[in-house]
Amino acid sequence: MAVKVGARLACGQCGTEIIVVKPTEGDVACCGAPMAEKASS
Ligand SMILES: [Zn+2]
Repeated sequence: MAVKVGARLACGQCGTEIIVVKPTEGDVACCGAPMAEKASS
C-alpha cells in the first residue's frame, strides 16, 4: 500500500512519529515493523 505525502506514520514499538515528505511504494518500517498511519486530528 502506497504512502501518501503528508501522511503521519507512527511506530507502535518506539513511538516515533514521522510525516511523509515523498511518496513511496510499500510500507515504511521502523523497529522491524511497518509503521501505521495516524488519523490527523
Ligand atoms: Zn520504531
